[in-house]
Amino acid sequence: MRRAVCPGSFDPVTNGHLDIIGRASRLFDEVIVGVLINQSKSGLFSVEERIDMLREVTASYGNVRVESFRGLLVDFCRAQRATVLIKGLRAVSDFDYELQMAQMNIGLAGVETLFMPTNPLYSFLSSSLVKDVAKWGGDVTPHVPDVVRAALKARLVPPST
Ligand code: ADP
Repeated sequence: MRRAVCPGSFDPVTNGHLDIIGRASRLFDEVIVGVLINQSKSGLFSVEERIDMLREVTASYGNVRVESFRGLLVDFCRAQRATVLIKGLRAVSDFDYELQMAQMNIGLAGVETLFMPTNPLYSFLSSSLVKDVAKWGGDVTPHVPDVVRAALKARLVPPST
């Protein structure tokens, strides 16, 4: 079975992430979305909340599983019996760091990295940008699934009493 891992913070998942996950799910038998637990950086959403949203929005794919991990990404790949990492590339600015990581990961454990060019519709999209826009009341409808839009609204705009 050919398994690939799509790693990231997903705080929260955007349509850019979903596009990559969906395309990867058509190329591999199984795709595991790996949500990084980063103790030194608390996100807007807890890891459990990110996982719940990811599970809901990837349920229709059928061959996508969502798990969390800490520590080395290659150790997570080994535990999941996945030999390939899928990374979305938005712009040249993503490339330098991603190349370094890809070379390190193949050296550490023989895990291959495949870069998938972003859909131009989402090339400017990042979780941080979506959070900034939502924080100031901007409309993020075109950029995130509905469940995420609702969660952002509930988290960032305190209900009036
Ligand atoms: P960010 O916080 O920058 O949105 P993550 O750490 O959650 O990103 O990203 C996980 C993976 O998803 C990375 O491989 C990243 O390049 C990819 N990715 C993020 N946003 C997009 C997008 N808009 N289009 C394509 N790939 C993306």
